[in-house]
Amino acid sequence: MSRILVVEDDPILGRGLKLSLELDGHQVNWARDLRTGSAANANEAFELVILDLGLPDGSGLSLCSSLRDAGSRIPIIILTAKTDEDSVVAGLTAGANDYVRKPFGQKELLARVRTALRAPLLREDQIRFGEVLLLKGQRKVMHQEREIDLNRREFDIFALLVDRAEQVVTRDQILNALDKNGEILDRTLDSHLSHIRKKFRSAGVQTIQISSVYGVGYRLEKK
Ligand code: CA
Repeated sequence: MSRILVVEDDPILGRGLKLSLELDGHQVNWARDLRTGSAANANEAFELVILDLGLPDGSGLSLCSSLRDAGSRIPIIILTAKTDEDSVVAGLTAGANDYVRKPFGQKELLARVRTALRAPLLREDQIRFGEVLLLKGQRKVMHQEREIDLNRREFDIFALLVDRAEQVVTRDQILNALDKNGEILDRTLDSHLSHIRKKFRSAGVQTIQISSVYGVGYRLEKK
């Protein structure tokens, strides 16, 4: 039994979701708008959030972002009515774990719910940025459960950019942090960055990018 918060304004869909989740053994709090959903979340400890994007008082994305900004690692499944990729990408960028396109079958949704509840919560040494997960302890970068194979240097550089995501990190800062052994990193830095970008592209990473800030350094950012 898990406590699940459902934020969905459609009465038929909401009722159906509540019923099938309850039949699957969960305890469900169904909120019909963002305000009620946020308030419920502030008062109760949930183990999963199922979040509609189009709500009467705003987008579910804002709740998703505010949960993540507050450091919450709760699994979030977004429900998207739109057929375009943009809402899915935006949801994953905002920190959702999974999405289900409307209309969906109850079986599919329940399967997603079980998977989301089974997934281990992010640990302290794991950082999610957009759709990419950095496992610091294991020195791995994951994308959709597959490892992006970075070498030692590339991993160190990317980890540093993740630590200072959305900020410009200067070349000197990278060199000072990583070039402790006196290796000549300066002239190879750009090629390391282009290798990281290439590996991310081949892995199909869509929502984040490393921008060059000319003459200064680099910035890891969401697109
Ligand atoms: Ca809706």
